[in-house]
Amino acid sequence: MRDRVFNFSAGPAAIPTPVLEKARDELLSFEGSGMSIMEMSHRSARFEEVLAKAADGLRELLALPEHFHILFIQGGPTLQFSMIPMNLLPPGQVADHIVTGAWGAKAAIEAGKFGTIRRAFDGSASGFTTVPDLGELSFSPTAAFVQYTSNETIDGVQFHEELDAGGIPVVCDMSSDILSRPIDADKYGLIFAGAQKNIGPSGVTVVIIREDLIERVPDGLPYLLDYREYVRQGSMPNTPNTWGIYLIGLVCDWLREQGGVDVIEVRNRRKAAILYDVIDSSEGFYTGHADRGSRSLMNVTFRLPSAEIDERFCIEAEAAGLDGLRGHRSVGGVRASIYNAMPESGVAALADFMSDFMHRNG
Ligand code: PMP
Repeated sequence: MRDRVFNFSAGPAAIPTPVLEKARDELLSFEGSGMSIMEMSHRSARFEEVLAKAADGLRELLALPEHFHILFIQGGPTLQFSMIPMNLLPPGQVADHIVTGAWGAKAAIEAGKFGTIRRAFDGSASGFTTVPDLGELSFSPTAAFVQYTSNETIDGVQFHEELDAGGIPVVCDMSSDILSRPIDADKYGLIFAGAQKNIGPSGVTVVIIREDLIERVPDGLPYLLDYREYVRQGSMPNTPNTWGIYLIGLVCDWLREQGGVDVIEVRNRRKAAILYDVIDSSEGFYTGHADRGSRSLMNVTFRLPSAEIDERFCIEAEAAGLDGLRGHRSVGGVRASIYNAMPESGVAALADFMSDFMHRNG
């Protein structure tokens, strides 16, 4: 088998190799059961332990107090764009959205189908290059919640502070930076994140919801779109993504072994600095997309002198074992996604490749 590549894909994304090895070793017989975790009833005591382990791992790593429920839901973060207003936006109130990129823009459009929304900030006119100063935003007096995206995966802009909305519940799409740094859980009403970047494989979304918000859910929602059913039935109103939940538990074990989110944040900062340094010292050969103060530590977005050179860069990088660098199809350019599982050696290899490519083409 060819050696594994350095995978810079934005999601599904690299999973730590020790996690994959452990899953491989247990694939045919999970904990001596004689069957794969994928073949096991979700109602078995063994699987209940697997689910509890994944939830406990997230609770510990994110320091989530007991008054937060941790739910595993299918349908991706995209389904959350609909479930959140269905569950939490009553008639007569408004949802304030802080739109700093493509995903936040989608979330606002979707929420508008279910109720009244207001954009407290909209960075679309400037091409989503920046995040606002959160302290300078003002919110609607009747806001049911304020929603934002902590890291915009496509545009590569990230908030480096957490929103305090003065008592209005804060909803945060943390899909592409959850577990990359510590959070102050008490700042949030609801956090959601697709697993496929920093937590595991695609097909399962983590929803963390504060107890009092559950009480706001109206009656009459479709069964699988009602958060209360996931709370009542321990994330199993129907058959959950057992494989995804199992892998989340393994990723949490791995992250604890690394020293947890404080340690991983330091590593993530170092990794991002290496790439931004190459961009900044390239005398314009590489142009970063985001404003400096809004740069993402997870998705480093940049361009070369032309779209044609962008493409050549990606092709040559792939041949050198640096995979998944093409920017999102909606924006083009190059994007290096360097989530927790990307080792520093992978980032160093990309930085070397960037320097070399520049000297050959600059
Ligand atoms: N929010 C963010 C921040 C994302 O990066 C993504 C996709 N990667 C989504 C939402 C949508 O995820 P999905 O396609 O799994 O619904």
